Amino acid sequence: MANPAIKARWVLETKGVVGTPALALHDIAKREGIRYLYRPLPNDPKLSGELIYKGNQKGILINTHINNSKRHTFTFAHELGHYFLEHKPEYVRDGVTGFWCSIEDVSYGKRQKEQEANVFAVELLMPENRFRPSMAGAPFDFTLINSLAREYQVSKQTCGYRILELTQSPCAILHSELGRITMQRTSRAAHGFLRQLTHIPQATAAYSAIKQQCGQIDFTECDPEKWLARYTPLTRLYECTRGKFESGVAMTLLRWS
Ligand SMILES: [Zn+2]
Repeated sequence: MANPAIKARWVLETKGVVGTPALALHDIAKREGIRYLYRPLPNDPKLSGELIYKGNQKGILINTHINNSKRHTFTFAHELGHYFLEHKPEYVRDGVTGFWCSIEDVSYGKRQKEQEANVFAVELLMPENRFRPSMAGAPFDFTLINSLAREYQVSKQTCGYRILELTQSPCAILHSELGRITMQRTSRAAHGFLRQLTHIPQATAAYSAIKQQCGQIDFTECDPEKWLARYTPLTRLYECTRGKFESGVAMTLLRWS
């Protein structure tokens, strides 16, 4: 089995992609003879996308029921991942074979093929050799996430996670809904430092921002004990929270030294 990241780099090189990779996905598909279709499928709300083979024909179907173009882009790259990684199709139905990828598969797939397709998609959309220089020297904050998300035409969440993968600094992203933590990721340097939390801790700037439904303009220093299981008297921790408070969702950035 090909290494997904190496395969994605190979695709970018052999297809001559020089601009924003997200804008080249349709061309890549066309060159491979893959047809594609965007269609809202409200009766299939868990479906994110499909890669379909029928005889010599192949196609990608993107469910646009959730109106989020960045999600559609990532799903498209994910389906290309199944194709280029030559994954063995998972279903056979009336002479049609392929992959049926749920929102969960495309977000944080636990099955090996789904994980591989996601690694492929991340490298295809945000190739390390371009992305790393883009973030070099910049502090980990919303400005960096927003500007790189715009540059690479990906969601802020996908972009934030890519920064965490490549940074040398200890930092973390926590997503929450009405104060309950729904997802958290850390950089390599921060691995094992975060406390096991189910909710945004009280007496933090994040807690106040969510309660008052008012995002922070900048980072605030906070007691590291609130967030970290491991720290020293010299640890300085900073946090910044913004969100779509009308929907109850928030994103908290932590960084420390
Ligand atoms: Zn998949």
